[in-house]
Amino acid sequence: MFWAWFEDFVGHFFANWLGVIKIFGLMTLIGFLLEQIRPAGRRFPIVPMVFNLCYVALSFAVLVTLVPWLQAFTNPIVQRWGGLVHVQFPAGLFGSILSVCIFFLIYDFFYYWWHRAQHTSAWLWAVHELHHSERHLNVTTSARHHWLEELIRFFVVLLPMSLIFRLDGPSIGVVFTFAMFFGYFIHLNLRLELGVLTGVIGGPQYHRLHHSIENQHHNRNFAAVFPIWDRLFGTQRLPLPGEWPETGLSERPKGNSWRHALFGPFITWGRAIGTLYEKAPLTRRLTRIGRNARGQYRR
Ligand SMILES: [Zn+2]
Ligand SMILES: [Zn+2]
Repeated sequence: MFWAWFEDFVGHFFANWLGVIKIFGLMTLIGFLLEQIRPAGRRFPIVPMVFNLCYVALSFAVLVTLVPWLQAFTNPIVQRWGGLVHVQFPAGLFGSILSVCIFFLIYDFFYYWWHRAQHTSAWLWAVHELHHSERHLNVTTSARHHWLEELIRFFVVLLPMSLIFRLDGPSIGVVFTFAMFFGYFIHLNLRLELGVLTGVIGGPQYHRLHHSIENQHHNRNFAAVFPIWDRLFGTQRLPLPGEWPETGLSERPKGNSWRHALFGPFITWGRAIGTLYEKAPLTRRLTRIGRNARGQYRR
């Protein structure tokens, strides 16, 4: 009964883009208020927050334009070859909650490897650095993913997931609501420690370590929802009680740049490829190409 009401409720919001903007605005407002009550860091970066909100509006417009084209390309592939493993769930509240958990457990597995690859490959870091260039994490940081990263995620997370699994369970509205909620939740500037649940479910403290400026936390905690993937693949660093490190990049960007936020990866890649045409021995050019592909800001 409750779940049917919940599906109707989120379905109403996800019926059109205006509804998505409403739910996005509501979550941002609630997150912002929580951050005022019990902040993890002392800074309230209003200017970067406004930048993030303007940026998400722009990347939202890009996605709304491009996603139907992507779906037209991927839907026939998924219908023809997708859903190798068919998973069904029992009816009722328990089955519905289980379906959401299983969906995000699988989603997070693919996301884990994509996210880890972004921190391993210099070429992919160029796309991800915008997200990490946020100096003080806050409720809007979740919106600060490069528009190209969101598009690539469609191919490297959602497409392989739907090729392998067919999950009879959560509706698209429920999935988007939880995905959006979790993105906001883990980036909150909120001093909330999850206690015994810290290694079970993602949270503001667990993900804060991923954004930490300290070397000891680098390349740790790639999972967004279920930390078990970090545990299994050896990249977990559980936060200690009271551990709330500073966040951002060691090479600090000077403010926000629209040029970088919109075209950063293309500028980086162009510069790296341009290295090939420099007047220098081939071995030196090949060394420099890797260095130049490493994004505009170092970790
Ligand atoms: Zn990251
Ligand atoms: Zn993050």
